[in-house]
Amino acid sequence: MEIPFAESYRIKMVEPIRRSTREERIQWIKEANYNLFNLRSNQVFIDLLTDSGTGAMSDKQWAAMMLGDESYAGASSYYNMKNAIKNILGFDYFLPTHQGRAAENVLFSVLVKEGDVVPGNSHFDTTKGHIEFRKAKALDVTIDEAKDTQAEHPFKGNLDLNKLEDALKTYPKEKVPFILVTITNNTSGGQPVSMENIRGVRQLCDKYGISLFIDSARFAENAYFIKMREKGYADKTIKAIVAEIFAHADGMTMSSKKDAIVNMGGFIAMKSKKLFQEASVYNIMFEGFITYGGMSGRDMNALAQGLDEGTEFETLETRIKQVEYLGNKLIEYGIPIQRPIGGHAVFVDAKKMLSHIPKEQFVAQTLGIELYIEGGIRGVEIGAILADRDPETRENRFPDLELLRLAIPRRTYTNNHMDVIAAALKNVYDRRTEIKSGVRILTEAPIMRHFTVELERI
Ligand SMILES: *Cc1c(COP(=O)(O)O)cnc(C)c1O
Repeated sequence: MEIPFAESYRIKMVEPIRRSTREERIQWIKEANYNLFNLRSNQVFIDLLTDSGTGAMSDKQWAAMMLGDESYAGASSYYNMKNAIKNILGFDYFLPTHQGRAAENVLFSVLVKEGDVVPGNSHFDTTKGHIEFRKAKALDVTIDEAKDTQAEHPFKGNLDLNKLEDALKTYPKEKVPFILVTITNNTSGGQPVSMENIRGVRQLCDKYGISLFIDSARFAENAYFIKMREKGYADKTIKAIVAEIFAHADGMTMSSKKDAIVNMGGFIAMKSKKLFQEASVYNIMFEGFITYGGMSGRDMNALAQGLDEGTEFETLETRIKQVEYLGNKLIEYGIPIQRPIGGHAVFVDAKKMLSHIPKEQFVAQTLGIELYIEGGIRGVEIGAILADRDPETRENRFPDLELLRLAIPRRTYTNNHMDVIAAALKNVYDRRTEIKSGVRILTEAPIMRHFTVELERI
């Protein structure tokens, strides 16, 4: 018989998690003002809030931590990170930062001014926040197929090159500091961008004299999809594909809490020495000296090792097959999810599942609350709450998609946990017509409101 697939690791350390009762959860989510971010972690059984910083480090990463060099300047850990970035990603210059959004803050302090436009494929929420905070515009030029959760497209994260070129014709060059390609495209469902598309963006960058930056949190997962789906890449190693991706870019920002499999850390990497020097000033102001930038030596060591492991085929295959396993279970149960199944998460189409709840009542958030009550599982809303209000009109923005993201931490849960998630969601699906209404906002922050919003049930 065919031998089934199994994980490419075994488990050496465990962390207990606790089941709770439905009554407890009903009480806790009320006390949390129906914001899943406000729950305590011990009130959650399976935590799918994010795959960011929640992965399990390897024996080699923990060993590297013990060798961390905590010197203020010139630590060996800094050079380990520098070598990993040069060898795997190909950049000569880099600045460590404490996480991805800090990398954005430093880089955008140099590059983004009031009135600028930054075209890209569904900018990540903190990225959009850092652009809009500077009174610039994040212009989404993702392909239209991304809006249809049922459309099968191998590279649904792609940029629409026609929309992009229109934007480059519309806005003067001085107003477009760079084009930002996010791999994989989280906001539209963990969907990859093809090498062909990256090449096409590069050609437009060259034609219009604009730089290309890559928001790279899940670059290795993106490379895995290129290997599996794009013609000509099946026989290439992940590391070769990664090198080819970044050869097209002028620079990158990185949240290392994703594909570098560390609990905290980030960086900016670039080809230009001048940009490195300009960004160094802000790095020192916001993050720390340029050889640690908000990171401990031990964390830089773990990151260097994580970049190597995270770009190994076996690591990615194990991870992405687990996400697929969950996605296929949900499809089997008839639950509408974003297709094809993405890299780091399964995205449930809340509008399709709770079609009777009006969008003004925050459909994906409502589904997230119900799944928590059902199984102690914490997902996250990717919908109208996350979309924030329009910075000019202050009206709610209602995106085309209302998704509940179930992000799978790396190397953390087993497939038994995936079975629990699928069963709980099936139960919510079966009683969906009994869910009569959604939630309304009581208090909210002016920007990135989803983290702290307080809600009540209607
Ligand atoms: C997580 C993430 C960020 C922000 O990084 P943090 O480490 O959470 O600050 C930016 N862009 C993308 C695509 C991300 O996934």
